[in-house]
Amino acid sequence: MIVDMHVHTNLGSICSQLGPEELISRARELGLHAVCVTEHHSHRGADRMVELARGSGFPVFRGVEIYTELGDMLVYGLKRDTRYHLTTFRELLQMAEEDGALIVPAHPTRGWDQKHPHQHVFPRELVGKVAAIETLNGANTERSNLWAVQVARELGLPGLGGSDAHSAWQLGKCVTVFENWIEDEKQLLEELREGRFYAAYLKDLEVAHPPLERPRD
Ligand SMILES: [Zn+2]
Ligand SMILES: [Zn+2]
Repeated sequence: MIVDMHVHTNLGSICSQLGPEELISRARELGLHAVCVTEHHSHRGADRMVELARGSGFPVFRGVEIYTELGDMLVYGLKRDTRYHLTTFRELLQMAEEDGALIVPAHPTRGWDQKHPHQHVFPRELVGKVAAIETLNGANTERSNLWAVQVARELGLPGLGGSDAHSAWQLGKCVTVFENWIEDEKQLLEELREGRFYAAYLKDLEVAHPPLERPRD
């Protein structure tokens, strides 16, 4: 099952231009089987998106993206929203443990390719506390993603893929391929916990999808 695990919509992220109808129609065109909406700090947009998608028959899951001092974290299964810009990783970890949620560092190597890579290290505080690493992020350079793949390999963690889309043309660039078909969020968490997935560039999968031109602005 092909799922874009990192998507921002204009329902919950002011930085996003991606509207709900556009999200579903583009996801279908691309051959995605589901998307997971991960707005910043709040599930409000994702909740609305799930409501709107219900009638369309296209599955939409919910997550959230939270800034911490150790970088942005994708969190799946969190049962609450968090304060903007004020969550420490320690606080987040406690909330995740209470809620049975899973943490995945988002784009942990973003920017590594712009500087000398040895200036950067993956925060050791995260080791043993995260379920996976977002190895393929659609807004990263391929080189940066390669660093993330290497980090995940070193730590023995599975890689997650998501587009980090803020508009339709960005959707589905990177995806997560799950071994099993997922019907609901409970099952999504189960598959994430068990590591039954891998990250991929959609272009590398055998899925037919028409190209969408990047709008000129
Ligand atoms: Zn981010
Ligand atoms: Zn994001």
